[in-house]
Amino acid sequence: MTPRPPAQPGDPLAGIETPALVLDLDLFERNLARMAEDAARLGVRLRPHGKGHKCPEIARRQVAQGAVGICCQKVDEAEVFVREGISDVLLTNQVVHPAKLSRLAALARDARIGLCVDDALHVTRAGEAAEAQEVDLNIYIEIEVGQRRCGLPVGPGLVPLAQRIAETPHLRFAGLHAYHGSAQHLRTAAERTAAIGAAADLVREAITLLKEAGIDVPLVTGAGTGTYELEASSGLWGEIQPGSYAFMDADYARNEAESLFDNALTLRATVLSTSVPGQAVLDFGLKAVAVDSGPPLPLSVVAEVLGVSDEHTILAQPEGAALSVGDRVTLQPGHVDPTCNLHDWIVATRADRVEALWPISARGAGL
Ligand code: PLP
Ligand code: MN
Repeated sequence: MTPRPPAQPGDPLAGIETPALVLDLDLFERNLARMAEDAARLGVRLRPHGKGHKCPEIARRQVAQGAVGICCQKVDEAEVFVREGISDVLLTNQVVHPAKLSRLAALARDARIGLCVDDALHVTRAGEAAEAQEVDLNIYIEIEVGQRRCGLPVGPGLVPLAQRIAETPHLRFAGLHAYHGSAQHLRTAAERTAAIGAAADLVREAITLLKEAGIDVPLVTGAGTGTYELEASSGLWGEIQPGSYAFMDADYARNEAESLFDNALTLRATVLSTSVPGQAVLDFGLKAVAVDSGPPLPLSVVAEVLGVSDEHTILAQPEGAALSVGDRVTLQPGHVDPTCNLHDWIVATRADRVEALWPISARGAGL
């Protein structure tokens, strides 16, 4: 069953049912064009991350503007993107379960598929799945460059893992995945420069270790919206994976330094109640916005978010401010990726009209 859309093309903005995710197409299109231009200027391949938008229409637009393909984080996202016409997908994560690897390998009949490993078991199982489906998979070794999440430490384990990939039929050693997630939101440019400088030292060391063993590294891929210029100008990374730049969010807005990118995605809400003096209660809560990077930021009114519960968000209204029942409020999500995952639709708008409804087809828990 298709989920109910919050609006129809042609509706005025006031006709959008809330809560809804509303995209300003002029700003969004500018963001896409700016990143495409920047990647070309910096001389790197652009492979935007689709884990944030999870939206095939956006992925197709990114590819139409020169992206080599799309990144995703989960097999179900890869399935949606390939089904919807994306022919080159890199899953920037590990996959362990044989059933999932079998689903991923099946996609390689129709698309170029890449995947990350940091353990021999990942390689063995990916090899078995590729062999069973008679397809080839591109395997990237994820190395630890500062985030301390997944990723093999750069050291003696690297060469044996690369050799194992090279020796496994149907697997191709495609290069290194080096993504420093915790560097993206370091607030000052100096902190981000230092973090990516340290990551670059590790990438250089990994390339040297492999080269000394006679293994060529075809590509280093990684980088997000907060740091991509640093990776791209290092001479090491050949591909960047920014995702949030398409929308931006309140957390990225807290990074120091001018950004090329505009805040294109907002959450629209309606005032449900003003019964408690000094407060306005909005018609959405944790089921419509993620608060891991702080509460959503009211844009259309001066008000502080006092709390977000399942279905409600409480605003403190300054003395004399007058939000009334039925008023509409625009907010910026704190963190776009987990917020988009809560919605079925992006309401794409231009000027004061709804232009299109785009399904967030790859949303879900990430099977
Ligand atoms: N690459 C990887 C591996 C990621 O996990 C992410 C997001 O967390 C990105 C790229 C995109 O980062 P951002 O949304 O900050 O641009
Ligand atoms: Mn994010």
